[in-house]
Amino acid sequence: MIYADYNATTPVDPEVRAAMVCALEASFGNASSLHSAGQEARRLVERARAQAAALVGAQPDEILFTSGGTEADNLAVLGVAQATSLAKGGIVTSSIEHQAVLAPCKHLQEGGRPVTFLPVDADGHLEIAALADAVKSGVALFSIMLANNETGVIQPLAEVVKAAASCGAVVHTDAVQAVGKMSVDAKALGVSLLSFSSHKIHGPKGAGALYVRRNCPLAPLLHGGRQERSLRPGTENVPAIVGFGKACELAGARLAADSRRLTLLRDRFEAQILARIAGTRVNGRRETRLPNTSNIAFGDLDGEAITINLDMLGMAASNGAACSAVDHSPSHVLLAMGQGESVARSAVRFSFGRDNTDEDIDRAVERVVQAVNLLRKARS
Ligand code: PLP
Repeated sequence: MIYADYNATTPVDPEVRAAMVCALEASFGNASSLHSAGQEARRLVERARAQAAALVGAQPDEILFTSGGTEADNLAVLGVAQATSLAKGGIVTSSIEHQAVLAPCKHLQEGGRPVTFLPVDADGHLEIAALADAVKSGVALFSIMLANNETGVIQPLAEVVKAAASCGAVVHTDAVQAVGKMSVDAKALGVSLLSFSSHKIHGPKGAGALYVRRNCPLAPLLHGGRQERSLRPGTENVPAIVGFGKACELAGARLAADSRRLTLLRDRFEAQILARIAGTRVNGRRETRLPNTSNIAFGDLDGEAITINLDMLGMAASNGAACSAVDHSPSHVLLAMGQGESVARSAVRFSFGRDNTDEDIDRAVERVVQAVNLLRKARS
């Protein structure tokens, strides 16, 4: 099996697994208990917090553990909306966000909070000119992703932070796909809130974090305990947090080498696909993309059929985001980039990762060519 769906999820690193097993077996205490079993669990949670903070250029006390990226995004969007009055202004997001941001924004809109969905250009890059209009009517929160999960296109966060400063708005960025694939420094970015997720960086599923800059207005979504500074109450999932912390440490140590290697693999893959399959095109701004992501339009073919054929041939890729693959709708990201429905439906996302080799890439190209030929033959 060639796995080329690392943006959907990643395998757990053996060192992460070992750290988790150790925490499961030896540190079962409740991290809020005063006795030594509890304090040992607390020590592990705090070590993981420092590891997560270091990966995103934060202080440990600026990290809140959550159940993953979706919860971190919901907490950021709904939490700032609740902590700021309607008079402060609306919410500004983009039309290419993950559902973990779009859905809470739509929920707020239904409740009467003004929400603006900024457009992107044909390359999947936020329309910077639209920011100036957005700030005219007062903004409480900007929520703009750092890198898109389908195209990998990196968004102009510096422009967003500049626009936000002009109207006193808070900036949240969904960095779930960016963290571990590019250098991410919350302070240098100038954002107040930043979401990231464990299972995208070879940690366990069900863990993630929200970076919260000091003094950022934020109300909790859950109520019931004092954990995570009362902003995310509930007994901590210590083994998952330990695994996430370890995954953050490993991601930081490997970042530069992994991203150089993945850029070469991705470019080699794209060059061969474009040369060998007529009518293919890369979706998204090629110069400013995550190093591992390649979103390819296959002309008049159906991306879902290609991914099904690829699976039969022993290769995992995805048509659109993993979570929208089940409802068979064309990608909202590609539609927002101005593509027609049939072009959007032809796309396949290949996302490479740590375990892919040069040989994988050459074998992957052969399988994609084979999958396309099978489809073309079936149609003729
Ligand atoms: N945001 C983006 C950009 C994502 O790609 C994902 C997952 O695919 C999420 C949020 C949700 O993260 P999680 O799966 O940890 O809930």
